[in-house]
Amino acid sequence: MTEYANYSFWLETCGDDLTPRPALERSTEVDVAILGAGYSGLWTAYYLLRQNPALRVAVVEKEIAGFGASGRNGGWCSPKFPVTPGTLEERYGRDAARALLIAMHETVDEVCRVCAEESIDAHFHKGGALTLARGSHQLPAIQATRAVYERLGLGDCNRLLSAEETRERVNVTGVHGALHTPQSASVHPGCLIRGLTHALERRGATIYEQTEVISFEGGSRPRLLTPGGELRARLAVVLAGEAYLSQLPQLHRAVMPVYSLIVLTEPLTEAQWSRIGWQNRESIGSNRLTVDYLTRTADGRILFGSRGAPYVFGSKITDQQDRHEATHSRARRAVVEWFPSLEGIGFTHAWGGPLGMPRDWMPAVVFDPQSRIGTARGYTGQGVATTNLSGRVLANLILGKRSAVETLPLAQRQSRNWEPEPLRWLAVRYMQGAFARIDEAAETGRTRPIDAPIAEFLGKH
Ligand SMILES: Cc1cc2nc3c(=O)[nH]c(=O)nc-3n(C[C@H](O)[C@H](O)[C@H](O)COP(=O)(O)OP(=O)(O)OC[C@H]3O[C@@H](n4cnc5c(N)ncnc54)[C@H](O)[C@@H]3O)c2cc1C
Repeated sequence: MTEYANYSFWLETCGDDLTPRPALERSTEVDVAILGAGYSGLWTAYYLLRQNPALRVAVVEKEIAGFGASGRNGGWCSPKFPVTPGTLEERYGRDAARALLIAMHETVDEVCRVCAEESIDAHFHKGGALTLARGSHQLPAIQATRAVYERLGLGDCNRLLSAEETRERVNVTGVHGALHTPQSASVHPGCLIRGLTHALERRGATIYEQTEVISFEGGSRPRLLTPGGELRARLAVVLAGEAYLSQLPQLHRAVMPVYSLIVLTEPLTEAQWSRIGWQNRESIGSNRLTVDYLTRTADGRILFGSRGAPYVFGSKITDQQDRHEATHSRARRAVVEWFPSLEGIGFTHAWGGPLGMPRDWMPAVVFDPQSRIGTARGYTGQGVATTNLSGRVLANLILGKRSAVETLPLAQRQSRNWEPEPLRWLAVRYMQGAFARIDEAAETGRTRPIDAPIAEFLGKH
């Protein structure tokens, strides 16, 4: 039997029984049939049932709830949207960008509110976020981001800190300043996702586990097809499988699985924490193109996450990619580079998982009333809070409710498909390598790679 607890520290410590729920064994009809028991699927189910408790909602999950990114992430429940505020403003204009970012702020509080209402102890902690400029080369980026927030009228929610002010919060090497976003929280992802399953079951939803959807069909009687039978839906079918949607032939090029990997230290002693500070448990990252994100867990460990495991030809998803040793080793070394006083610290866990990246890096929440197929996907690694907003948007779209959220730029949009192979593999591997070279050159004071402008241009297009 699969040991689901081994997939992440969060699943191991969520305190829930991970024994799979019964699979779907015969064809059944419901009102809404949802593929995927991650946050997207479960938040959608939750808001559907809140609005109409009489609905018959069923979720079909290939493994167990929380098996995907929702049970493995870095725990940032952040108001940051996957697309930068500057790009949002450029693509959708000031008002739409501002409305989306305000909705993200409200979303963090909404997650907290539902956790309280449903008695989900997800270790929700609103400690804020710090985007560090590690090295003077990272200062212009945080200053530029702050300038965009200012233009959008959100300057107060994103304040620049000097190097000294930053060090008063957390003692990290090479810090030249930071952007402080107080409206950010951290959660225990495992407790959140597993708590949501119980909240849903209390509201009458059915969750089938270890049931793979092998195909789906839209139309007047949309349905999910599984080996045990089909799940027909009267109102809608929802595809909420994020990176794994790429494994369905119909959606193979819609999202690309990109791996993010995490290492976790043993709990630090009080003496170690007193040298580091970080008393407010902010979510911390820097401005590396190859991404770094850190969390101080509720039980006093440091979680360090980063991208870097190479893209696999054909968008393959395998467990081996979760354990890419070169990436994990780099992350362990980085912990000591950031916090030299931790030289010799022990690491107890290492894991990872695929996140879903659409061609334009922008999440899409769509419901097509003709095919009766809905989807919420493409969070590009920032979905802990965003999925809650998606769930509300999708529930409204399915039920035909009107509110402000369905007019936000993530609703009713399409991203174009990824290029076919081998072009996709060549381009993505090139970008991964180029981003690593650009970061390394900046950090070691070497000349910027000659192809940096090309790589940065491709990263935006
Ligand atoms: C290592 C890592 C760290 C991250 N850190 C952060 C962070 O700190 N903050 C943040 O905001 N975001 C983070 N993210 C991203 C965030 O976790 C995701 O955006 C979010 O969890 C997506 O939720 P989801 O429900 O859409 O997808 P998932 O959680 O991936 O759920 C999809 C589910 O669908 C199931 N499924 C797929 N295909 C099928 C099928 N054919 N049949 C049946 N079931 C199927 C899968 O088994 C899975 O359980 C991180 C992601 C990773 C991988």
